[in-house]
Amino acid sequence: MSFVDKNSDDIFDVDFSELDEKGSEEKDIPVQSQDSKSKKQSQEKQGNQEENAIQESNNADVSEIEELDILDDSLKDLPGVSTGKIGVKVSRFLVERCRFTTSKKERLSIIKDDVIPVKLHYDEDTGSFICFEGKCCEMLGFPRVKYVYPVVFYDTDTKGKIQSKDIQVKVLSVGNEQNEDLITINEVQGDITGFDLLVSCKDEQYQKISFTVAGKAAWRTRPEMVQFVKNFLTRNKKHLLTAVGKKLNESEFLKLMGYSESEQENLDFDDVFPDD
Ligand SMILES: [Zn+2]
Repeated sequence: MSFVDKNSDDIFDVDFSELDEKGSEEKDIPVQSQDSKSKKQSQEKQGNQEENAIQESNNADVSEIEELDILDDSLKDLPGVSTGKIGVKVSRFLVERCRFTTSKKERLSIIKDDVIPVKLHYDEDTGSFICFEGKCCEMLGFPRVKYVYPVVFYDTDTKGKIQSKDIQVKVLSVGNEQNEDLITINEVQGDITGFDLLVSCKDEQYQKISFTVAGKAAWRTRPEMVQFVKNFLTRNKKHLLTAVGKKLNESEFLKLMGYSESEQENLDFDDVFPDD
């Protein structure tokens, strides 16, 4: 054994086979993610409930119910429905936006070098929405520009070391300054999609983040992860922007801004027709 501080090296070399053998449960995990913790708790809870139910009804044969697959493909194919064991949490967005905290480094990997620049407005009454280049700009001023990237988001400890094979596809939304950082990495290191990036956050409210290259993209070494990412993107590509801002047309925008339909008609617009 050497006394070299392993922590920093571990960040760069990911050996998923190590995770395969030991399983993520046995690893020393300083901070367990809320999701997996609550999942585990509710699985335990569920286990107890099942035991009780069996004890109370000796005559009933529950095996047939256990064999019954209610989470079959007919449910799984419905948009808006996802299935899983009790405890599975679902974001209200089909594709979640990466959010960062000062207490934890995150690890992610940009999936493709296609960037989606989006013009966004924000108002208390409307929330964040995508600019439609009309009354929104007139009433709220120039939009902000965000650069949106689909990313693989890893399950890590606070230092950004991978803890399990759970990955998520999320969207990374950055302003001009951070996008410049990504462009620099891409120029200096070579194709940015080949790498994992560690993300540190200095300011949670304004999501001020910085990137460090953290070795080769780990997810690309695992065929099942590549397949997962491909399937997820194929299915959800049209929803990539929903976590960043909603789509509004002019009429919807004005309604949220507090104009009734009759007030909208009296405004000097040439393209507002009531839908009904
Ligand atoms: Zn606008």
